[in-house]
Amino acid sequence: MKLPSSADIVIIGGGVMGASTAYHLAARGVKNIVLLEKEPFYGLGATGRCAGGVRYQFSTEINVRLSTISLPMLERFEEEIGQPIDYRQCGYLILLSNQKDLAEYEKNVHLQNKLGVQTIWLDGGEIRKRLPMMNLDDILAGTFNEKDGLVDPNSVVMGYINAAARMGVKTLNNVEVTGVEIQADKIVAVTTQDGKIVTSFVINTAGPWADKIGEMVGVDIPITPLRRQILTTTPLPEIPGDFPFVIDFAQSLYFHREGEGLLTGMSNPGEKPGFNQDVDVNWEISHLEAASNRMPLLEKAGLLSHWAGLYENTPDAHPIFGATPVPGFYICAGFSGHGFMHGPVAGKIMSEIVLDGEASSLDVSTLDLARFESGRLIKEYNVV
Ligand SMILES: Cc1cc2nc3c(=O)[nH]c(=O)nc-3n(C[C@H](O)[C@H](O)[C@H](O)COP(=O)(O)OP(=O)(O)OC[C@H]3O[C@@H](n4cnc5c(N)ncnc54)[C@H](O)[C@@H]3O)c2cc1C
Repeated sequence: MKLPSSADIVIIGGGVMGASTAYHLAARGVKNIVLLEKEPFYGLGATGRCAGGVRYQFSTEINVRLSTISLPMLERFEEEIGQPIDYRQCGYLILLSNQKDLAEYEKNVHLQNKLGVQTIWLDGGEIRKRLPMMNLDDILAGTFNEKDGLVDPNSVVMGYINAAARMGVKTLNNVEVTGVEIQADKIVAVTTQDGKIVTSFVINTAGPWADKIGEMVGVDIPITPLRRQILTTTPLPEIPGDFPFVIDFAQSLYFHREGEGLLTGMSNPGEKPGFNQDVDVNWEISHLEAASNRMPLLEKAGLLSHWAGLYENTPDAHPIFGATPVPGFYICAGFSGHGFMHGPVAGKIMSEIVLDGEASSLDVSTLDLARFESGRLIKEYNVV
């Protein structure tokens, strides 16, 4: 498709946030939207590299509420968007081995229950009974929600991209935004390697790269890219079909069933911020040691694939929604490693902020960019 010469709205970034925002704006009747993605395919950023987990289990009210809207949108996705997304409600089982985490997680379960989310508390014995193939002697307790689960990220992105395109959104890949032109304090155009699009309205959905887009208009966006990596194994028939998404919270180590094998990831506490997406082989060895200690079955499996991607971390592990000091420059980014699941509601919220001046699905006014300067941070504890 040729680069359009003008647009009412330009969305920068074709991951889940850009795709969902484009779809929800078009569904509200906005006609002249252009979505630009620098890579040859949509969803090649954080979204396509993520673990596909979707959960209600968070520690802050706003994150639980984002999930209570977004996960039902994923349940209705095929009906609404026409694209199957392989939603498997296998549950998330979070394992706790540190005394200090118990009190925090008791609070989390209480909060979630108060908000209508049926997370339950499990003692160590019950967890060992549920996961006999794992080495869990040190596990004190855990939490489980049977409605948490897994969804295919690429299907969600492509579902939204195709539905948006059917409603007239011009979606272009292989187009990198290189600048945003400002005259008299107003946005006048977006520049790319293929030319310029005249516009007065830009939505920055560039995920881990969002701060680079902010720099183009002189807006400081405190989003830091941080490498995280994953590997998948050859088939392990001993893993039952209903094996949950298991998180060993103290080690930031997780497992879920992927195809006939396992997917596992572990966050490297020594990782330095940066855009490197190569697999760190040394960390992979440490990860595999920890993973095999927990799941001795892994000794029998081969490595099927591995990759790295970037978390898009904010200082308080919550996203940034809405306006910035530059008129017409909006942001929806910074989901801090758990944003795939919030993509559906985030795009809907952005359409409300842009068209109505505020979000009606959920009040996200506390998640504005200005909170970092004014020190209104809300810390999420449940970050993996
Ligand atoms: C290893 C890993 C595991 C994860 N696991 C989970 C999980 O289980 N569950 C969950 O909910 N979340 C998970 N996440 C987090 C989740 O992937 C992100 O929060 C979410 O995908 C962010 O979506 P996004 O659209 O903001 O960013 P992205 O998907 O990165 O999209 C941004 C897009 O902008 C494009 N772009 C950047 N600069 C430009 C430019 N100048 N011009 C044009 N295009 C540009 C990029 O190419 C990219 O495609 C995980 C992340 C990683 C890395």
